[in-house]
Amino acid sequence: SDALLTIEGLKTHFFLDEGVVRAVDGVDLRLPLGKTVCVVGESGCGKSITARSILGLVESPGRVVEGHIWWGAGNGAVKDAVANDAVAKEAPEPARRGGTRKSPRGGHRRVQEAASEPSGRIDLAGLDVRGERLRGIRGNEISMVFQEPMASLSPMYTVANQMTEAIRVHQPMSKEEAYQRGIELLSRVGIPRPEQTMEAYPFQLSGGMCQRVMIAIALSCEPSLLIADEPTTALDVTTQARIIDLLVDLQADTGMAMMFITHDLGVVAEIADEVVVMYLGTVVEQGAVDDIFHDPKHPYTKALLDSIPMPGRGVRQPLRSIRGQVPHPLDRPAGCPFHPRCDEAISGLCDSVPPPRVVLGEDRNARCVLYEPNLLDEHARRQAGS
Ligand code: SF4
Ligand code: MG
Repeated sequence: SDALLTIEGLKTHFFLDEGVVRAVDGVDLRLPLGKTVCVVGESGCGKSITARSILGLVESPGRVVEGHIWWGAGNGAVKDAVANDAVAKEAPEPARRGGTRKSPRGGHRRVQEAASEPSGRIDLAGLDVRGERLRGIRGNEISMVFQEPMASLSPMYTVANQMTEAIRVHQPMSKEEAYQRGIELLSRVGIPRPEQTMEAYPFQLSGGMCQRVMIAIALSCEPSLLIADEPTTALDVTTQARIIDLLVDLQADTGMAMMFITHDLGVVAEIADEVVVMYLGTVVEQGAVDDIFHDPKHPYTKALLDSIPMPGRGVRQPLRSIRGQVPHPLDRPAGCPFHPRCDEAISGLCDSVPPPRVVLGEDRNARCVLYEPNLLDEHARRQAGS
């Protein structure tokens, strides 16, 4: 299927006094048009930073230092955005502290040239994070919903204020029209008395209601892609289920693609078309949800599935926890980052050679030497020879 977004070799690093945290360190993934892709992995594996990198929302001292984030699959909406942005004026890139930048983003001119392909795809990683172009895409094509709905809304303003404002930033509408649109959107996300909710301040609403408001705001631009970063983690179980049902319905209605970040494999089983498994800043496996659940390839995916209670697997089956712990981010293991915890690690190989990304089928890949027979043979020969 056509890719809406393709990430290639993305690296997003944080430059701390103590050293460089390679939060995202070579991510490759693909979001197909109109599908739901769930991104899973233990906390700290780079899921949120990957999502934020797409939108240019990585906070200092972090920044994208390498790679491509290709947006667009020849769908009309994306091309329109390109055309509109061609006339928009971009602010010159502000000077950065500490001279050397490995980023491909040089000056303003080079940004423009490097960012577009003849196909109409745009490299979001090549755009100025503070520029008009990325902001335009962020408000018109890609929306994001975060974990803490309360924190995303301002406590000082009514829902009506915040909704009409958000709508009018990207759509030319009068206040009155934006208000009406707001009411429509609130009904759409299942809020029973939208007029009343419009007049409320966030503190007067439950967490679930706030999240519905945030989803309504995210939908106001009719995005081609909705990124949801653990949107239900802060909510109680019943509300979680309702919000997930809502997102599934909206996805089906609108045909938008959804990138859903979660650590809840039960949710993944319920909503995903495809699954991306992340570990320590890399994607270790991607595939269709059934393949991932029934025939996991990467040892980390296998361990993750073994460690989590799954519906239908039987309550009596003991859960294994994954051996060891996620290493400290400043102390990333050499070779395969999973090797200290991997039951199948090959000594002398996995601890020194970064595993290649092996294509196992259409839309299926794993980053592990076990699927690269040439590497295994070569290693075996070397062992025999020494
Ligand atoms: Fe395990 Fe080696 Fe595969 Fe890494 S590359 S997952 S250590 S077998
Ligand atoms: Mg996170």
